[in-house]
Amino acid sequence: MKLCFFLALLVCSVAALAVAPPKDAGRIWISDVTIISPESLDSIGIGSVLIEDGRIVRVQRGAGVRAPAGVSVISGKGRFLIPGLIDSHVHLASVPGVGPTQLFTQRKALPEMIRQYYEQLPRSYLYFGYTTLVDLAVVDRGVLDNFRRAPLHPDLYDCGPSLPVANGYPMSFAPPDARFQVFPNWILDPEHATGLPAGYDPAKHTPAAAVATVKAEGGICVKTYFERGFGRDRNLPVITPALIAQVRQAAHNDGLPVMMHANSFDAQKFAVDAQVDVIAHGMWNWGEFDGRPELPPEIKSLLDRIVAEKIGYQPTIQVMQGLRANFDPEYLQRPAVRKVLPAKLLAWFQSPQGKWFKKELAGDNPPDAVLRARYDRGPIGQVDQVVAYLAAKNARFLFGTDTPSAPTYGNLPGLNGYLEMQDLQHAGMSLQQILRAATIENARMFHLDPQVGTIEAGKVANLVLLSKSPLESADAYASVVTVFVHGQPIEREILAASH
Ligand SMILES: [Zn+2]
Repeated sequence: MKLCFFLALLVCSVAALAVAPPKDAGRIWISDVTIISPESLDSIGIGSVLIEDGRIVRVQRGAGVRAPAGVSVISGKGRFLIPGLIDSHVHLASVPGVGPTQLFTQRKALPEMIRQYYEQLPRSYLYFGYTTLVDLAVVDRGVLDNFRRAPLHPDLYDCGPSLPVANGYPMSFAPPDARFQVFPNWILDPEHATGLPAGYDPAKHTPAAAVATVKAEGGICVKTYFERGFGRDRNLPVITPALIAQVRQAAHNDGLPVMMHANSFDAQKFAVDAQVDVIAHGMWNWGEFDGRPELPPEIKSLLDRIVAEKIGYQPTIQVMQGLRANFDPEYLQRPAVRKVLPAKLLAWFQSPQGKWFKKELAGDNPPDAVLRARYDRGPIGQVDQVVAYLAAKNARFLFGTDTPSAPTYGNLPGLNGYLEMQDLQHAGMSLQQILRAATIENARMFHLDPQVGTIEAGKVANLVLLSKSPLESADAYASVVTVFVHGQPIEREILAASH
């Protein structure tokens, strides 16, 4: 009896909804816009897009099509519609310009500065059109949970806790007593079982167990590293061919792509031999070939294998540009910096204490111009040549920024993606390659393509309306007018940091 009563109530309320739907709820018609969808770049034209309940339900080609009844119309006249951008390499818990060990102490000393930053973080990504992010190494799940709870935020996926080899990069950067807590999903190399925490369970640190942890925590990818070190941390232990083979097998059994941090010639050679799915950095370190004016044949043949084997490639040029930014007095003066960064953190970056990382990078403290030239001639010039070579062979580029890759204020959320696009164009990628890398290619690699990555009926309505064409200049990615997140239109200025 009671059940019937409730059923009647339910049927009654559903019927009421069907008879009198709230007008315009979730129905949006973007009219007469130039539709630029990466699966059909040969047939770009004017059209209109119908959004219902957060999804694209119709893409109508042709100009002047009449809007269906009962929709909110957003005129796209003279504008360009692209899928929401995907950045498949971010680290949300890391704060630009604030070191990981400092973060702990400064979280106490300057809590408001850090709090404002995290609060603005999701909006800064949306401000530059990023509606989907992949965090590659979860070190503080609380930050990700808060991000997902923010009223306006991009869709966020992650690779769960990453898989460093015990005492290798990047856990080597944390103090020995803390590193096993910060990177609990470390893998054990039985040949080098020294310096390990007392009482650890070896069964929890096999490649299969570590991949299972990622899967259990909802990860969509597996991140590991090949890095012998730099700066003060050199000759670090690295993953072996046998271990990476086990990682790969376990990950592929679970349908997860394997991503490898590798930015040197020998690391990328290791990654290709290991048949990883994604190389998560460009090759700015040419190892024995460093300083050569042109790509040597040994590197070219490795890049040929990356192309032939369709390995996903994230150039992440902003890693190096973000270090160089410390020596560019104009970087913090860019108007866009104020849009993505709240006042307190910006003020701190402009103070002498906020420039601690510059001092650390500068070493013997030569003039800024000398240091900028070193980056341009060295790692940036080298990664640019690698990108140009891969672009000419139409490699499988994926768009990722590695924001922030170091405690540098030169890697700010959202803005860093825009700058990466400029870098990619400068290095020699075509505008079509850049758009595809940041949409359909990222979506396919991470198996998100049923949801996002193109403007097609059935997909989530994550879209960006631009006032300039991204197929004419990478500058267009700064001309965001409206960002749609699950169909909700957000005017750009609402997303800017307040000052
Ligand atoms: Zn990274």
